[in-house]
Amino acid sequence: MHYFEYHHGELLAEKVPVKKIVEEVGTPVYIYSAATLRRHLQVFSEAFSDIPHLICYSVKANSNLAILKLLGKLGAGADIVSGGELYRALKAGIPPEKIVFSGVGKTEREMEEALSAGILMFNVESLGELEALRRVAQKIGKPAPFSIRVNPNVDPKTHPYISTGLKKNKFGLPEEVAFEAYRKAKDDPFLHPLGIDCHIGSQLTEISPFTEALRRLKELYQRLLAEGFELRYLDLGGGLGIVYGNEEPPPPAEYAEALKQELRDLSCTLILEPGRVIAGNAGILVTRVLYVKSNPPSPGEKEGKNFVIVDAGMNDLIRPAFYQAYHRILPVREISGEETIVADVVGPICESGDFLAKERTLPPISPGDLLAVFSAGAYGFVMSSNYNSRPRAAEVLVDGERFFVVRKRETYEDLVRLETIPEEV
Ligand SMILES: *Cc1c(COP(=O)(O)O)cnc(C)c1O
Repeated sequence: MHYFEYHHGELLAEKVPVKKIVEEVGTPVYIYSAATLRRHLQVFSEAFSDIPHLICYSVKANSNLAILKLLGKLGAGADIVSGGELYRALKAGIPPEKIVFSGVGKTEREMEEALSAGILMFNVESLGELEALRRVAQKIGKPAPFSIRVNPNVDPKTHPYISTGLKKNKFGLPEEVAFEAYRKAKDDPFLHPLGIDCHIGSQLTEISPFTEALRRLKELYQRLLAEGFELRYLDLGGGLGIVYGNEEPPPPAEYAEALKQELRDLSCTLILEPGRVIAGNAGILVTRVLYVKSNPPSPGEKEGKNFVIVDAGMNDLIRPAFYQAYHRILPVREISGEETIVADVVGPICESGDFLAKERTLPPISPGDLLAVFSAGAYGFVMSSNYNSRPRAAEVLVDGERFFVVRKRETYEDLVRLETIPEEV
């Protein structure tokens, strides 16, 4: 669900007309709804309210400080994957004891920052990383709390680029290797095993891969308890899918029910790392139509090809180009009538892969119209770049009748801020 709805033919973000935001901030602009974010977190958290649990919001889905602050205030912790995300989470006031650190390529510097900050634990993804973590812990004289990220070899049935729990993926360790790693760490004064972790992929629309992964984790958890380990946390990662088009992901309550069923004979704190399900449908990307053009049909073809050229490109929202992702696109001012066109909605970037939609049925659209690209709150702005020397879009947070620019649009100066021209060339 979300709070982007039409009122008298005009798209509102909560109580604010999208057009009004655009008049002040311009396009392209990301608009997030605070009420939607709050609701998503609350529904998710309430689904687990009858068992010990910790929600560590996956910062990489949308790492704007205002959003981290909002979620932190409601009790969320953070799942981070870099020193930069640690910096953001702490800056937004998320308590370190609610932060877990995932990722296959943590540097020793990042580990040191996180360990000094006093995070809850590291989700360790290789034996080399465990050794590095030990070195860091010894160096600063503070034992490192950790889970091993297990790769349960479960097929999440999602896009290959966001599948992470298969043997062929770079993430985690097979159960047997993980077991050996725990044993090696057992009596080490600088390594403190706290739990087991996994994350099998993103945009999952079925429950069974989660329960299968959880079953595998539980088995290992019990084996380790029998070996005398005092584990307390079982981290199942994120991955719950959302509705972009006609997907039918399970609602959080159903997902929670299935997990709780699986966990009923185990006493532990369940950690979840939702990202997309919290932020995805809490954001839209608003773009202005620059041109509409039609290429005539080739000989033998009935239809020509229509293009709606907009001022947001793959540098602003890379999901369609990168994952063949579908995003619903609707005009900000409803266009009445039965007439439709079929067009590719494309950006200004010099790449044929630069599209927001292919072969999309749209009402007749004219230059100057505003379009809203829905479900852009997760993996949207965070994946944006300056390709083609395009300043990154502004970000706006709406809360009821008010809205706040939570990240200014970049300027040309910003583009070159870190560059220098050596005298010698
Ligand atoms: C990306 C990621 C998540 C969040 O995934 P969503 O599909 O956005 O819920 C959680 N945990 C880890 C380790 C991740 O890499």
